[in-house]
Amino acid sequence: MHHPFKPFKIYSLAILYVVFLVGAFSILMASIDQSQRDWKRHTYEALEKTAYFNDAMVALGYGGFIHDFKNAVIRQDLSYLRRAETEIELGLDSLQKYLQRAPEHTAEVRAIQSVVSQYRHNLPKLRQMLEEKQSVADIDRVVRVDDTPAIEAIEAILSSHAQSPNSLFEQAGSAHQRVNHMLLVILCALVLVSILVFSFIRYVNKRLAIKLKDLEVIFRCAPNAIFSVNEHGTIISANRETMRLFGFSERALNKINVDDLVPSATKEKHKKLRLEFQKSDRVQPMSQRNTIFYGKKLNGDVFPASISIATYGVGDEKHSIVVIKDLSDEMQYKSQANTDPLTKVANRRAINRQLAAAISRSNRQQTPLAVCIFDIDHFKAVNDKHGHLVGDDVLQRVAKIFSDAIRKTDFVGRWGGEEFVIILEDTDKEGAKHFADKLRQEVKRRSQGIDFPVAITLSAGVSVYCQDDKQDCLFNHADQALYRAKESGRDCVVVI
Ligand code: GH3
Ligand code: MG
Ligand code: MG
Repeated sequence: MHHPFKPFKIYSLAILYVVFLVGAFSILMASIDQSQRDWKRHTYEALEKTAYFNDAMVALGYGGFIHDFKNAVIRQDLSYLRRAETEIELGLDSLQKYLQRAPEHTAEVRAIQSVVSQYRHNLPKLRQMLEEKQSVADIDRVVRVDDTPAIEAIEAILSSHAQSPNSLFEQAGSAHQRVNHMLLVILCALVLVSILVFSFIRYVNKRLAIKLKDLEVIFRCAPNAIFSVNEHGTIISANRETMRLFGFSERALNKINVDDLVPSATKEKHKKLRLEFQKSDRVQPMSQRNTIFYGKKLNGDVFPASISIATYGVGDEKHSIVVIKDLSDEMQYKSQANTDPLTKVANRRAINRQLAAAISRSNRQQTPLAVCIFDIDHFKAVNDKHGHLVGDDVLQRVAKIFSDAIRKTDFVGRWGGEEFVIILEDTDKEGAKHFADKLRQEVKRRSQGIDFPVAITLSAGVSVYCQDDKQDCLFNHADQALYRAKESGRDCVVVI
């Protein structure tokens, strides 16, 4: 049978789905993490940069170097000069650090450094002139520096710093957008995968539903009894035919053990067989050929049946499907086809088949075989005198006497009309003649009894089988012998 899906496909799909989810989320988390780190780094760098620049401005600007430098010149005070000397170094140092972090402002920083360097260059001269107590105008003329390039550069840097928060926000925005995009992509993929998974589940579901429906219809419409039993033999489910055949209701279903459905005499044997059979997985049905089993209805009636059992395990549960065919009708038809309805002995068809089998046994086993044909004498007169019903009664009684007289291995049948055939296996000429004569006498004697409607006699022809004789030949000889018996006055046996 073709399977539309296999469990491992579902498992691999589920694993794939989980892998996809984990992968997608880790990529998303990594991306969020990265943008957060970038944002932190950018902010830190920007803050650090401005901090160094501010330090430089504080050290060099108002309250710093320029302030003290100017005071030293104007007030001719050396203590201002000493502070200015320290501040210029601090300022240059911070400026250098700023330059390392803001290479984009190299030109501006160089311009500031150049102006500040000129001031530093003038510091020893200033100290000397202050110590010599020269006039402010003289000192100013010597140590004056043109500040303009530095002021312009500072303005440029400050205005760019004013822009810097904007660029930070822009970067943050673009990072945020990147995460958003990624989220969208993952969402789309998730929807796609979900649709795929959902479609697959729907497909599998549909196949399963169809399969179940098929099975249900087969189960319901099957002309045979079909039921499933668990490992304890309890019937789990059964179709209507099962209930009809065994005569139980749907309500009684789960109370019935399969061992109760066989005749009491075979119950134990059946249980042992069943347990043995259920141990292994056999999907192949165990049909019993040439053996007739018997089922027992709940009312005790026993019927012939053919049984198929298939056992399978699902997980740790073992189930068996049992299919039972009631052979009652079949066997009845079969027996009817081989039985003479009036006398209930075998008919001509069965005689022919039996003789063929007897001949092949005789050939095989080299045993003698004889055939007797009995014919009631003047039977027409019986009918004429007493009527057909009496004739029928006589035929039935004769058949009964024949049936009672023969051995198990012998075979009796009605050849037609008032003629009967008896096949005697493993019997030679003498034996057959003796048997036929005994039977002739027995019928004659019995027919003279008061219970018999009319006294009759029999004539019989006997022939024995010779190796390689044809079946017809054997009958012909017996027939010829019978003819001779009639010729020689009836009520006797002739052997050929
Ligand atoms: P013979 O001694 O030469 O055998 O004479 P017979 O009258 O027995 O032979 P015949 O062949 O002339 O007649 C056979 C009779 O058997 C004819 C028929 O009415 C009768 N018969 C055949 N079948 C049946 C049957 O099923 N029931 C009854 N009642 N009679 C039957
Ligand atoms: Mg006859
Ligand atoms: Mg006759």
